[in-house]
Amino acid sequence: MSSSALYQTFARIPLAFDHGEGSWLVTTDGARYLDFAAGIAVNSLGHAHPHLVAALTEQAAKLWHISNLYEIPGQRRLGERLVASTFADKVFFTNSGAEALECAIKTARRYHFVSGNPERYRIITFEGAFHGRTLATIAAGGQAKYLEGFGPKVEGFDQVPFNDLEAARNAITSETAAILVEPIQGEGGIRAFPLQSLKRLREICDDHGILLLLDEVQCGIGRTGKLFAHEWAEITPDVMAIAKGIGGGFPMGACLATDEAAKGMTAGVHGTTFGGNPLAMAVGNAVLDVVLEDGFLEEISRKGLMLKQGLASVADEFPDVLEEIRGTGLMLGLKCKGSNAALQTAMRDQKLLSVTAGDNVVRLLPPLTVSDEEIRDALGRIRAAAMTLSTETVGA
Ligand SMILES: *Cc1c(COP(=O)(O)O)cnc(C)c1O
Repeated sequence: MSSSALYQTFARIPLAFDHGEGSWLVTTDGARYLDFAAGIAVNSLGHAHPHLVAALTEQAAKLWHISNLYEIPGQRRLGERLVASTFADKVFFTNSGAEALECAIKTARRYHFVSGNPERYRIITFEGAFHGRTLATIAAGGQAKYLEGFGPKVEGFDQVPFNDLEAARNAITSETAAILVEPIQGEGGIRAFPLQSLKRLREICDDHGILLLLDEVQCGIGRTGKLFAHEWAEITPDVMAIAKGIGGGFPMGACLATDEAAKGMTAGVHGTTFGGNPLAMAVGNAVLDVVLEDGFLEEISRKGLMLKQGLASVADEFPDVLEEIRGTGLMLGLKCKGSNAALQTAMRDQKLLSVTAGDNVVRLLPPLTVSDEEIRDALGRIRAAAMTLSTETVGA
């Protein structure tokens, strides 16, 4: 399909969808696909969830946009609810993950500035990280392929090897403001920091008077079976960026912080035109209505375990295709023996959608509302896909 009017920045899969229903997507010519990509962990409640449709259409008939010049009741409410369910005291709403990260980075730098340490502006990140595509967030992510050709890398980011805490500690200087980490790297290939490492990072930050910034853009909002992935490690950050799942498909993000960490973010120092607008806030509140329902998060853990166990037996059956199953809850990765793109294509031929990631991994990120039956259905399709790639004689 030629998309000549568009930047050629995406290698698009030649499929066009007309509508969605829960965990299913229907193409313009009527083919049904089981969606275990969920818009890359965005469609947290699947497609056309009745509660989200009602919230959006109700708000659409009342007020779309008003600007942050005025009070926005839905924003106040969503902010209070996020604060009540997390470590945070303060929230800033954005339109995307990268902007939530920009806000987190600015919050950390301003914190040290108003604390009388303006020289503390550098941020330590880990190899394999992905924090977005703005100039600062590509510098934070540190990946050469995203930095090349875009001029001087934004100053102030120091990268250390994945999960190398000794290197992280040694990288701290009198100019360091914070450590930034995804508890589970998404684009990096569903690579989880051991819970013990997250605890240790918290201690290292405390020992050095620097802030711990978490990027939960992909792993947050119930994806791992807790509202936020860091809860598994029983730690709290100073600042956290979220997006993707909180909007359920409506573009939105947020930066959450403690009062102390946000103390530099005073009137006029930061802003946004669209962030926190009434449409986004109506949907964000509706997503929380569902995710915070009694038992919803526990169901994610149960279903995630069921999926992971099923995948483990497919991996046992086809060791020449699947090397390892990783991840927690409904954020799972299939580390491939052959090419991850080939497995993704073979799964798509079985009408199951997934997403590739770094480290030769295929990600499975189904809607959090996925049913047991849909999980069994997906496992059948994954097994069939693995069989087409396996060179070992089946049943021999
Ligand atoms: C997707 C993602 C981002 C960037 O979000 P955008 O909405 O694309 O700007 C940042 N961090 C992580 C961990 C992500 O998965």
